[in-house]
Amino acid sequence: MSLIVAKFGGSSVASIEKIKTIAHRVREMRMRGHDVVVVVSAMGDTTDDLIQLAGATGDDLNSREMDMLLATGEQQTAALLAMTLNNMGCSAISLTGWQAGIKSDSSHNKAKINGIENCRIKKEIEAGNIVVIAGFQGISPEGDITTLGRGGSDTTAVALAASLQADRCMIFTDVDGVYTADPRMVPEARKLTKISYEEMLELAVLGAVVMQPRAVEVALAYQIDVEVRCSFNKNPGTIITKEANMEKQVIVSGVAHDVNCARFAIFDVPDQPGIAKTLFKSLAGAGINVDMVIQAAMRNGRNDIAFTIGRDDLKKAIEVIGKLVIEIGASGMTYGDDVAKVSIVGAGMQTNPGVAADMFEALADENINIHMISTSEIKVSCLIDKDCIETAVRALHRKFELDKAE
Ligand code: ADP
Ligand code: ASP
Ligand code: MG
Repeated sequence: MSLIVAKFGGSSVASIEKIKTIAHRVREMRMRGHDVVVVVSAMGDTTDDLIQLAGATGDDLNSREMDMLLATGEQQTAALLAMTLNNMGCSAISLTGWQAGIKSDSSHNKAKINGIENCRIKKEIEAGNIVVIAGFQGISPEGDITTLGRGGSDTTAVALAASLQADRCMIFTDVDGVYTADPRMVPEARKLTKISYEEMLELAVLGAVVMQPRAVEVALAYQIDVEVRCSFNKNPGTIITKEANMEKQVIVSGVAHDVNCARFAIFDVPDQPGIAKTLFKSLAGAGINVDMVIQAAMRNGRNDIAFTIGRDDLKKAIEVIGKLVIEIGASGMTYGDDVAKVSIVGAGMQTNPGVAADMFEALADENINIHMISTSEIKVSCLIDKDCIETAVRALHRKFELDKAE
């Protein structure tokens, strides 16, 4: 018998009606003779609602307690889906992350999976059960519940597929697959039949929330094909796999955008060794990830340093940098969350000069100002004003003729 790991995201389980719909889908898999492990997210906006509830308790949100709270969202769905399946005559059992043996490190709110002790899952499969596992959670070496970061149920599913050596790993969501851009922003975006791990990873890191980046990393590490498809129809989806056919032939395979960005600049920083170290070590020490960095050309022995961070980290960064500005002898700082990042991704880019210039041209034609640029072998990103993001994504999609992608 073949084993399927199927993950259903928040919008696919947002109501009891939707849970019933996906229960039918799971039952069909079972009736075709497959063993099935299901991973579920919290219903609809439950995770956001829980974060809001926690915020109402005060300013200091202990990360261990946040994990205790947030993990309950996925547990609700797991129990409800198992009950629905049992009511349909399909034998099912729900498990929390720790019952499923998902061992993580101790970094609350962004824990990494260290390994999966899958004997309980195997025992339940052998007993004839559909095993419904609460996604997004694990257990630390100290025995505390952890969560895996926003979108973490994708990672739970791919890690389980690796651990159980599943025959298929399917990520069911509210769109038909991975598109050349967010289909909610670009109606003419095209669904990709296949995409390589590397390109999917870049798209995900750069804001395409359809897959959590760490899930793609696990898929790449264990060479697992992942199918992204829609919970509500039978259309073929997108396969994330080793060698995708657009590689090297198509220069740009997708446009991604991220509005969860914030900008920060520090003025007149003394041009001395060790200053960048002090700044960025302090940010790292506060758990703040820095994305783009620009150091402007020196004048009179002083530089301006600008960088971007996640919007959620802005408050913390203001505290950290606010203290350092005087200490390092800078003249001041500025910041804001009025920016967004737009990126083009494609494996063919590294062998085709002029792609970045084409990107800048497309933005210039729309009169969009570029604040920062960063590049790698397979992507170019530009920081722009947030209110231009939709125009920018559409313009780039047109410029690189992505509506004609296969
Ligand atoms: P789930 O609740 O199933 O985990 P998510 O909201 O996390 O779903 O991810 C699905 C969403 O990802 C889609 O509704 C879509 O708006 C967004 N998205 C962003 N970029 C892309 C892309 N390139 N292809 C497909 N979907 C994308
Ligand atoms: N419920 C969590 C979130 O909203 C995890 C997930 O959906 O994958 O981020
Ligand atoms: Mg998701």
